[in-house]
Amino acid sequence: MKKLALHWKIIIGMVLGILFGFLMNSIEGGRLFVGNWIAPLGKIFINLLKLIAVPLILASLIKGVSDLKDISKIRTMGLRTISIYMATTLIAIIIGLGIVNTVKPGEGMPESTIEKIKARYANDAGVKDKLMKASMQKEAGPLQPLVDIFPSNIFKSFADASMLQVIFFALFVGICLLLIEEEKAKPLIAFFDSLNEVVMKMVDLIMLFAPYAVFALLANVIIAFDDTEILIKLVYYALCVVVGLTIMVGVYLLLIRVYAKKSPLWFLKQISPAQLLAFSTSSSAATLPVTMERVEEHLGVDKEVSGFVLPVGATVNMDGTSLYQGIAAVFIMQVIWPEGLTFTNQMVIIFTALLASIGSAAVPSAGMVMLVIVLESVGFPAELLPIGLALIFAVDRPLDMCRTVINVTGDATVSTLVAKSLGKLHEPKPKAWDDNYTPVK
Ligand code: ASP
Repeated sequence: MKKLALHWKIIIGMVLGILFGFLMNSIEGGRLFVGNWIAPLGKIFINLLKLIAVPLILASLIKGVSDLKDISKIRTMGLRTISIYMATTLIAIIIGLGIVNTVKPGEGMPESTIEKIKARYANDAGVKDKLMKASMQKEAGPLQPLVDIFPSNIFKSFADASMLQVIFFALFVGICLLLIEEEKAKPLIAFFDSLNEVVMKMVDLIMLFAPYAVFALLANVIIAFDDTEILIKLVYYALCVVVGLTIMVGVYLLLIRVYAKKSPLWFLKQISPAQLLAFSTSSSAATLPVTMERVEEHLGVDKEVSGFVLPVGATVNMDGTSLYQGIAAVFIMQVIWPEGLTFTNQMVIIFTALLASIGSAAVPSAGMVMLVIVLESVGFPAELLPIGLALIFAVDRPLDMCRTVINVTGDATVSTLVAKSLGKLHEPKPKAWDDNYTPVK
């Protein structure tokens, strides 16, 4: 395994994990074995990635901002980042709506299939959990997301891994470091510089474990599938999402080619480990440390850009999620509430899916919670909501895995574009992964 590139090792781990999952599914007691003895390895890996996310954001952003020398650059970077994020998300939703309205995967679904899905999933604990989380989200006032950016206790923000609060704190510290005397700022900057190096090395070491962890994660995903018959019935809907997501990758690669003047294939190769992890973990937050490492060391984006653009992106930029929400909302309406499919409602979906993807947490299945809010915004009958979610529940996990890849790819693309526009994109000096555990002399 030594000479293989990291992404190949991860791919082999994934394929073996899938095969092992199917094998265990067919053996008595296999699922229990995977649950007890294999799945915890994946959990340990995700825990380790989450462990380093907060120190990484803190160190790289404080160090990055204090290197900027000019506070007005932060404003330019912030405005560009948010505008490009909004633009790519809008493109994603429009692609999604275009596909679902052309293919119409929900039209003509036999009543018997709907009944079967309803019976299987409408009272499922997972569906109920999504509906409950959505109603909690709704109870907050309209400006609550803004209030939530400003922490009152930074240790609580660290403990909860509240990304936007940590970003705010890091920016605040970074800016103040620029405003105080250089002599006084130096020790703290040196501290965060050193912390940043240490955490980056932690990413390298954790990634050595990635091929085994993805094996565990995927085996665990496979044993959760029990109803392949329903999966097949939803194949058109699932294909619409996958095709939409693929088109979105095309949009990113075009931007990379035209604006950043980089080869799309090179770009994909550099970020592939982050994409594969996004697929295996279904969480852009868990993938964040790896995305940051790839973007800084392998794409050549400067820390001050990646340290800001990527954590913000993991929280607010979810192109894959918004594309999925557009398709899922219209699909559900095509099946059980066709009278709601007016032009105005589709416009409302564009707007709410944009906001919903910003509000979705970067964790597995968060997109489905916010889908409830998208549906409610068009006046979808409340009593049909459990059936609506039940319709798409069976395929949600595989689609979640795919949309998370797009969320992460979108963040990497936008950080490259912002870096290019600020003259902060340099020739990368990648270190080979295998070299990274040999101590530096
Ligand atoms: N799992 C997605 C992410 O972490 C969010 C979602 O669409 O459910 O990016």
